[in-house]
Amino acid sequence: MHILDTPIDYLKGVGPLRADLLKKELRIFTYGDLLMHYPFRYIDKSKIHTIAELTPDSPSIQLKGQIIKFEEKGQKRAKRLIAHFKDDTGIIELVWFKAIRWVRSGVKLHTDYLVFGKPTAFKGAFNIVHPEMDMQEENNQFTQGLQPVYNATEMLNAKGLTSRGIGKLTKALLPLLNNQLEETLSATLIEKLNLPTRTQSFIDIHQPNDAKALVRAQKRLKFEEFFFLQLHLLKLKLTRKKKFKGYAFENLGEGFHEFYNKHLPFELTGAQKRVLKEIRNDVRNPQQMNRLLQGDVGSGKTLVALLSMLMAVDNGFQSCLMAPTEILARQHFETISTYLQKQDIKVAILTGSTKTKDRRILHEQLENGEIDLLIGTHALLEDKVVFQNLALVVIDEQHRFGVAQRAKLWKKNKFPPHVLVMTATPIPRTLSMTLYGDLDVSIIDELPPGRKEVKTMWKTDSSRLQIINFMREQIKLERQIYIVFPLIEESEKLDYKNLMEGFTAVEREFPLPEFQVSVVHGQMKPEDKQYEMKRFVDGVTNIMVATTVIEVGVNVPNASVMIIESAERFGLSQLHQLRGRVGRGSEQSYCVLVSGNKVSVEGKTRLQTMVDTNDGFQISEVDLKLRGPGDMMGTKQSGVLDFKIADIVIDNKILHFARNEADLLLQDDGDLEKAENINIARAYRPYARERTGWSRIS
Ligand code: ADP
Ligand code: MG
Repeated sequence: MHILDTPIDYLKGVGPLRADLLKKELRIFTYGDLLMHYPFRYIDKSKIHTIAELTPDSPSIQLKGQIIKFEEKGQKRAKRLIAHFKDDTGIIELVWFKAIRWVRSGVKLHTDYLVFGKPTAFKGAFNIVHPEMDMQEENNQFTQGLQPVYNATEMLNAKGLTSRGIGKLTKALLPLLNNQLEETLSATLIEKLNLPTRTQSFIDIHQPNDAKALVRAQKRLKFEEFFFLQLHLLKLKLTRKKKFKGYAFENLGEGFHEFYNKHLPFELTGAQKRVLKEIRNDVRNPQQMNRLLQGDVGSGKTLVALLSMLMAVDNGFQSCLMAPTEILARQHFETISTYLQKQDIKVAILTGSTKTKDRRILHEQLENGEIDLLIGTHALLEDKVVFQNLALVVIDEQHRFGVAQRAKLWKKNKFPPHVLVMTATPIPRTLSMTLYGDLDVSIIDELPPGRKEVKTMWKTDSSRLQIINFMREQIKLERQIYIVFPLIEESEKLDYKNLMEGFTAVEREFPLPEFQVSVVHGQMKPEDKQYEMKRFVDGVTNIMVATTVIEVGVNVPNASVMIIESAERFGLSQLHQLRGRVGRGSEQSYCVLVSGNKVSVEGKTRLQTMVDTNDGFQISEVDLKLRGPGDMMGTKQSGVLDFKIADIVIDNKILHFARNEADLLLQDDGDLEKAENINIARAYRPYARERTGWSRIS
């Protein structure tokens, strides 16, 4: 048995009771688990302070001196023990409210102690409550250098497994390693990055002699964690390319060229062209494409999707475009049908509200290949929807779909069709590298020319009149306005009330017949929603009062004002999405964030960030810092983001390094067969085995 697999029960200092607790409370079953229970911070005990230099702001510090007197004060529950502790510069009080008898019997008077804790100023003097006490023995690990602090739980504390108790166990374990740990990185990497050996890293992470040793150990362990993950993701990508045959779109033909040369209403942006080339390079090969297209709202992803679908059409294949909402699907259908009206290409739409009769015809036309492009919602996923030869699947706003849903589209042909997933929610590179590390990623980082930045203002309720006047001015200029209310599941009823009250208030300020106001919310019937939406799209209504149902995709270029009510309740990416609904025409557009008077610090950061920048990637970086990766992505993703020591925000440099090194390695030795990579290959095998269920698709 490998030493790291030794059951924790065998470690000196771990009896059956403690073993049980370690397993239950910390999921530490083996030596290896204990070794990887890293300290979460360190206390610097390398410096000894003096009582004279204490200030009310002193952090936890260490003093050296002797106790000259004990004193007990108070009765029963209020009883406390006070020790008068003296060094060469003064006297302070050490205070205990608990374990009084234990301290009295264990701690000696007139003996040198190192005392550690946070001094508090009290009536002109200082005291330290429940200090850590150490006799000054030689080689006492707790009296030198950086002391590790471990996560422990109350249950563990009760059985002596405090942070310090765990430290003692680790201390017993480290000598047993005895350089028995195999190296997991290649000699080349270790040298190139100047990393300590694996055994040394574990020693230094638990018992660093100094800050330098600690930093090197952290660097290695973080690198290693990122490196194997990136290696795994990149290998998944390579394997998939080898394993899944796809459909080759060998030639660009009439459909593509005619559209591109004759009907394309504008020049593509540089970014659109670049991304199209990336897609073209993928789909011309008989290997399945799995590509994530990131592009800020309004960057023109729809057109890229359409041109990609034309590549399929030209090679005799069908393609489909799936959107998360009916409104959006309809809009795509209308846009694309208009684009293609002069060409002999059949476009159809399928949503939940497609009538049974139409559905039957549609199914038939799909099966016999009459339909070239199918646009729709989740309805596309149904088993009854059978294609003749589906070869490209485009998924808009992919984060709105689950993995299982997306996977259904894979099964709609003999080989899996090419997949292009699109998202307008920019994700920081560090995050996408991890989360989508097994996909190819394209980025549209350029907006079509002539767009004006949306001017963003942050107002409170007290500016209501001002906001209404501003709305009047804009309506006079024949612009349209969105007013959005939050919709949060836990308080759906309350939100509905807010929305309807808001709607009534708006109608009062903007009465018929001079003004027309639409309202759209999640509890309306789809056809009513559609009707209201259409009135707004057609410019019949001046104002659209809505919940976040309009968040994704909707395109009304004449709308120039986005008012977001209770803006502090929205997340950053949602605010950014909503703002993206305006600024789509050539007019100056505005976004007004209306918040209450009391906003949390985080809320303020969010709103201020929106005021400061229009750049989705910048916004997503802030979002990542505020929320952390797990929350930011809505759900904790299948373990991809569970790091023991690394942090994709703090350690993003190491992450880039690791990705790059993993990439270089696989380019040179894709199957990890070279002798020099034997360490890596040996460590990777069990790593991959534990993650077999991971092969996330699209
Ligand atoms: P998104 O990436 O948010 O899906 P859309 O595809 O809806 O963006 O495009 C937003 C708007 O920009 C549309 O009105 C579209 O016609 C227009 N557009 C797209 N590409 C260009 C371009 N290269 N030049 C000018 N306008 C463009
Ligand atoms: Mg879009």
